[in-house]
Amino acid sequence: MPRPAKAPVVVPAPSKSAGQTRQIMARVFVPHPDAFTGLNFRSPYELLVGTILSAQSTDRRVNEVTPALFAKYPDAAALAQAKPAELEVDIKSTGFFRQKSKALIGMATAVVDQFGGEIPGKMESLVTLPGVGRKTANVVLSHAFAIPGLAVDRHVLRVTNRIGIAQGADPEVVEAQLCAVMPPAQWQLTSDTLILHGRRICRPFPLCPQCAVVELCDFAADLRRKGGRAKARVEGAPKHAAKKAAKAAKAVKNVGHLGKSAVKKLAKKVATPAARRTK
Ligand code: SF4
Repeated sequence: MPRPAKAPVVVPAPSKSAGQTRQIMARVFVPHPDAFTGLNFRSPYELLVGTILSAQSTDRRVNEVTPALFAKYPDAAALAQAKPAELEVDIKSTGFFRQKSKALIGMATAVVDQFGGEIPGKMESLVTLPGVGRKTANVVLSHAFAIPGLAVDRHVLRVTNRIGIAQGADPEVVEAQLCAVMPPAQWQLTSDTLILHGRRICRPFPLCPQCAVVELCDFAADLRRKGGRAKARVEGAPKHAAKKAAKAAKAVKNVGHLGKSAVKKLAKKVATPAARRTK
């Protein structure tokens, strides 16, 4: 019996129009002029390894581990020959070292067997490698191959849904929504910027009064309307954050109109201390 056809992915329309999304992103870019991957790499191979290691870890922690790792395993052929127990020790400090060790050796073996030892520069090839999904593939394509790609991680999901420039919990849907309205030349910048914005400002407990798009954001508008306590619960913030959120709601209410110069001033204030905290 023929299998029923797979239902097409429904891509809902976000609350903001394409023009509004581009306008909002132009503002979000300003406080994060340093937006780029925080991982140190010299080749697609190194970036792919670093990106796999960065799951549930920090870029800083990965950067501490990779110089010795790349000296020991300079390419996919060397990594494919690694002994799992030895590799686990080498990457232990990045967390989830058993799964990561397995993924790294599996990835390297597939690269050697199927792609002649070279990291492929195509989405459809990259996602066939163990441990590599669309997010990782987009990071590698955009940063190491200069091929437009928009990686959607938990920060991008949270920030875009809150602002209203995307709608949905599926990273693939959000990627499609953002790619439909942002020019390909800005896909990488859009992803890198939203990730930094999510780490520095639009955290799980958001610092709305410091945000360059507070006037244009659906979440902040809701905070102003309903008060922070209810909204924090809706967004799944921990209960103890509800009180803080109520304070934030008050502060957001007090933020008046932000002109261009005010946004720039805010950007300066926000970028430096927050950057120090998250790097
Ligand atoms: S206004 Fe608040 S919720 Fe909206 S993007 Fe900025 S920090 Fe996030």
